[in-house]
Amino acid sequence: MTDTPTPRLPHRHLLGIEQLSPADVTAILDRAEDYVALNRARDKKKSTLRGLTQINLFFENSTRTQASFEIAGKRLGADVMNMSVRTSSMSKGETLLDTAATLNAMHPDLIVVRHQHSGAVALLAQKVDASVINAGDGRHEHPTQALLDALTIRRRKGRLHRLTVAICGDVAHSRVARSNMILLGMMENRVRVVSPPTLLPPEIDRYGVEVFHDMEKGLEGADVVMMLRLQQERMEGAFVPSQREYFHRFGLDHRKLACAKPDAIVMHPGPMNRGVEIDALVADDPERSVIGEQVEMGVAVRMAVLELLAEAQGTAA
Ligand code: ASP
Repeated sequence: MTDTPTPRLPHRHLLGIEQLSPADVTAILDRAEDYVALNRARDKKKSTLRGLTQINLFFENSTRTQASFEIAGKRLGADVMNMSVRTSSMSKGETLLDTAATLNAMHPDLIVVRHQHSGAVALLAQKVDASVINAGDGRHEHPTQALLDALTIRRRKGRLHRLTVAICGDVAHSRVARSNMILLGMMENRVRVVSPPTLLPPEIDRYGVEVFHDMEKGLEGADVVMMLRLQQERMEGAFVPSQREYFHRFGLDHRKLACAKPDAIVMHPGPMNRGVEIDALVADDPERSVIGEQVEMGVAVRMAVLELLAEAQGTAA
């Protein structure tokens, strides 16, 4: 009998940061570092996923995440198929499980899923033989976004621990905030959320974060300022008085940013609402904004995740 080596990522799926250990996070980021260099080279192709089929199944609109997963899979040599599914008149549960059964019959190896309902991706993962990656489920998690944010922070700050990170804005509707609170907390950072009380989730106490309702106070001494999009599509009713008033109190401009450390970096997962949660002058400031770098790190992190999951399944070349 031959011993099978222990996979570097001992998981079949990536459904959330919640399931990962600090060692898993480090393994993903270390592997992604290799791909940052590859992605900057002229020849960006590897063949570790050659012969494998990756399906990007998006029930919710996406531009950057879908493109990023598509490029990541193709650079590793997988056959990548994009499927955008609009919600039909069928009940959503039926649509999801029917789609899962149909896709499963085509023998994909990796399925990347985005869905508007929290928990839908985990449900789908139970019905298929492929490795499933959560590309955002409702307000729940968006693990690859938190991992690409972590890689960006680690490269810029030289470490991923003992940093003060302020996550600002619409925390209640944000899967990005949730995945980041879990990851940054697990890596022993000081995590703050800065938000109006109406945009905080009821279970905020569970995350071990400090809560602020005032930007100047919340940003004081921060190493990283992470802005969130105001997710109006997930709001029923009025959560903020007006966009103008919101920008005045919670929008990041250079005046508020001056409360953070002088070398604090500014992040945003995109898409941005300029003039609502972030001033264009800050978003486009090359001295402070790392928003473009986050997109670049996204491809590297997704390549690492696809490859590590294929290795764990024993299907990587
Ligand atoms: N693109 C991120 C997401 O899908 C953030 C956002 O939409 O505001 O959650």
